[in-house]
Amino acid sequence: MILAACGDAAPTSPEPDEGGAIQLEVRFHLLQSSVLDALDVTLTDAEVGELVQSLNEIWAQAGVVWQIEQIVREPALNPDVFREVLNDRTGSRTSLVAAVLPDENLRPDIWNVFLVRDFGGVVGGVYLPSRVVVSAELDPEGNRDLSGGTARILAHELGHSLGLGHVPCTAAGNLMAAGCPRGTRTLLEPGQIQIARQQAKKGHPF
Ligand SMILES: [Zn+2]
Repeated sequence: MILAACGDAAPTSPEPDEGGAIQLEVRFHLLQSSVLDALDVTLTDAEVGELVQSLNEIWAQAGVVWQIEQIVREPALNPDVFREVLNDRTGSRTSLVAAVLPDENLRPDIWNVFLVRDFGGVVGGVYLPSRVVVSAELDPEGNRDLSGGTARILAHELGHSLGLGHVPCTAAGNLMAAGCPRGTRTLLEPGQIQIARQQAKKGHPF
């Protein structure tokens, strides 16, 4: 009878981590616009709940649980700047998106996610370091897929907020791989999970 074999043991981590679930609060800011559809989010509160459920299915592998603190709807600022972002197909002007975000309802002590309706395939989403995640109701293929592409992009941007950078495209499909051919990319490696949990325990974005 073989009870254990060399190489079967789980890798041990030098960092003490009790491994329990880490709950992180998120305030969702749903942008509204009467002049630019790409800034006019149509999600209901229930649909935001669906999106977060899918998000949590992806992040469960790291023991990170995202919780909706509040959902606020607020008018987007400077729609012309967002047109500029959409018109630059290189994606090099995406940091300009900051000009679109109202800051009066920001909660600086927790996570803030701003949702636009559509990034027009220029990018999936944007992380503005130490500040906010900006993601979209429509995924880069233009689908409103709350349990698929829409949730995966948001999960990826939140990965940046937990200190994770991009990794190469592989067949296994890492959550933090960007610009890969189509396919599901939701996996995190043990090293990435360790980094993300360390940031999550600090209780604020990277
Ligand atoms: Zn990214």
